[in-house]
Amino acid sequence: MIAKVEPLTPARALRGPFDYRLPGDMAQVDVGSMLVVPFGRRRLLGVVVGLAEESDLPPERLVEPLAALESGVPPELVRLGLWVGDEYCSTPARGLALVLPPGTGTGGLPRVGVRLALTAEMTAAGRTALSGDDRLGPRQRAALEHLVEGPRPAALLVRAAECDHSTLRALEARGLIELDRVEQRRRPGVVGVGALAPQGLELTPFQRAALGEIERRLESPGCRGAGLLLHGVTGSGKTEVYLRAVASALQRGRSAIVLVPEIALTPQTAARFEERFGDTVAILHSRLGQGERHDEWLRLRRGEARVCVGPRSAVFAPVGDLGLIVIDEEHDSSYKQEGDPRYDARRVAERRAEQSGAVLIAGSATPRPESMLRLERLVLPERVDGRPLPPVELVGSLEAEGVLHERTLDALAAVRERREKAIVLLNRRGWSNFLSCRSCGRVWQCRDCDVTLVLHRTTGRVACHHCGHSEAVPAACPDCGSVSLARHGIGTERLEHELARQLSPLPVLRLDADSAGDRGAVPALLRRFDSLEAGVLVGTQMVAKGHDFPEVTLAVVLDADATLRFPDFRAEERTFALVSQLAGRSGRGPRGGRVIVQCLDPSVRALRYAAAHDAGGFVTGELERRRALGYPPFAHLIRVVCSSREPGPERAAATRIHEAIDPSVAAVLGPAPLFRRAGRERAQVLLKAPADESARVRAVAAVRRAVESAAGDQTLRGASFSVDVDPE
Ligand code: ADP
Ligand code: ZN
Ligand code: ZN
Repeated sequence: MIAKVEPLTPARALRGPFDYRLPGDMAQVDVGSMLVVPFGRRRLLGVVVGLAEESDLPPERLVEPLAALESGVPPELVRLGLWVGDEYCSTPARGLALVLPPGTGTGGLPRVGVRLALTAEMTAAGRTALSGDDRLGPRQRAALEHLVEGPRPAALLVRAAECDHSTLRALEARGLIELDRVEQRRRPGVVGVGALAPQGLELTPFQRAALGEIERRLESPGCRGAGLLLHGVTGSGKTEVYLRAVASALQRGRSAIVLVPEIALTPQTAARFEERFGDTVAILHSRLGQGERHDEWLRLRRGEARVCVGPRSAVFAPVGDLGLIVIDEEHDSSYKQEGDPRYDARRVAERRAEQSGAVLIAGSATPRPESMLRLERLVLPERVDGRPLPPVELVGSLEAEGVLHERTLDALAAVRERREKAIVLLNRRGWSNFLSCRSCGRVWQCRDCDVTLVLHRTTGRVACHHCGHSEAVPAACPDCGSVSLARHGIGTERLEHELARQLSPLPVLRLDADSAGDRGAVPALLRRFDSLEAGVLVGTQMVAKGHDFPEVTLAVVLDADATLRFPDFRAEERTFALVSQLAGRSGRGPRGGRVIVQCLDPSVRALRYAAAHDAGGFVTGELERRRALGYPPFAHLIRVVCSSREPGPERAAATRIHEAIDPSVAAVLGPAPLFRRAGRERAQVLLKAPADESARVRAVAAVRRAVESAAGDQTLRGASFSVDVDPE
């Protein structure tokens, strides 16, 4: 047999697949197997992407793989990985890296597969046993020598001892080595926040109807209809529907994947799954250590765990017999990966569900226009127990004297009096937005980006929120020497300070990317807020995620229309979702709740619809607008950003891309300059391709050709390219 092998290293330079002849003792090699192959004088790690009877190469040029690794992935995932590489204008290697065991990097031989250790007897005997045993071959001896130093991943051992897996299997068979036991025990738990979902709840009639429809689809395996949209208002019990749906899939002998936005931010959801399904669940935190993630991956691969809960990358979980994929909070932008390949887990989930005949459920209180248009909608129109949604007041902040409107201050004071809880959202980190010199007007800017630096009092620094550069807070103006500096605007840090002062002795906690720095800091902070009898949680959009704190009776958004001022066709959708989600944190308990939205202009559409809790009405209008302007979901967007260190090449490169795209394939907008970022000048070209799938595939292919040709052009030296299909 011939194995078609796609090399994983190095990612860009080699484009396979390349043919290798499989020797008789590699009969178990299949699509998805990982092989170490010779390539010229190098050894590469590769994935088998196909098998064939014959090769186009002459027999004398065919060589054999050096070793087959024990880990590998199901053929279905190989197809999915290759599809992602292609679909998002990346490479096969990068697409495949997504589906391989965690830790399979693109540089050097990876730490894949199992870790091996000496058995207890061998450890006790130590090196003396080695020297005395003359039945050992030189390679076996070399492998044991390495293991005397401590447990090793099998793949590294193969390389270090220059042996192959049959050597290791022979040693295992003789009882000299075994799987590393310490590794087998690692098992991360989720620390829950707040109440867990009680078992045996009686479903509401709406929940029952939704579950019924999901089960009907699970009943007809191979049903390849559209996915389902579980459109349920905040607090309508969507999680309970997911839990029952997963139980139902398990009962039918199938497995499930549950995608959630970042787990650290929504520990409640993950904890509910863990509590309900115990060891059947593998939880893939984004902050798990490499080893832990690898173990969870193996438990799924071996079928020991059949439910995978995790962030976007969990869509590639190696489960078999997939019956159900849930996408919780499907409007969340974390489903889009920012680095190459810039995949969208929601789209990948649809593809995977289709491939395996699984049921797809996307759930949200604020569904995306895309999902409203394409998925079949199940509605949970009421909160459980029929509690009303909280009334929302829109307050013009122009009337306000300070940052907080009088109505807001009164409402917060009432929370203090009644010993309740409030959440306050301001989508800006730091103390002040920027600094200026009172005498000459100098504004402190990032040295590498065309943006102002934000003042952070906690660290005593001014920092760039785009590249991470920071410097000490200046004592005086370097231009004119004045020591009188003005601070402009307010961020979460200062708001926390102000509220603590005005609402004393009510405790005020802050949740934003700065306070969430460490691993585990966010769940700890949420747990603390939960355990308080009364208090205020201040923060960025992180406070608007799916938290379920029944004592919260007030939610406040400051500067709610700030997000509308971005030049982005999704600005309205984002603003609507943010305000609605924040509103959903209020009034989840018997005491009810209210919401105050401070904004410059209370008459804007996104805010009026959010105040009316009318997601359906908002999306209907949004879809009309998108149709008229030719934006998604009525078109596919592809964004190409060209950049260079010096001004010039980025613009020339963008112009070249523009010219290379046939206008009948896609409408091309640009080149448009973008602000300088991290020391790079940038320009962008935006393609709008027709909505149908074949037009999308054509447009991606055209972009790929254009970029490859421009990247190889000497006159454009210094320019680099990044392609984003379906940019967020
Ligand atoms: P959503 O995700 O729709 O915002 P949750 O799933 O967080 O809502 O549910 C809100 C609360 O209602 C949770 O505390 C949950 O345990 C509870 N709940 C869910 N379903 C029911 C039910 N049928 N009866 C009573 N309480 C329920
Ligand atoms: Zn000055
Ligand atoms: Zn910067």
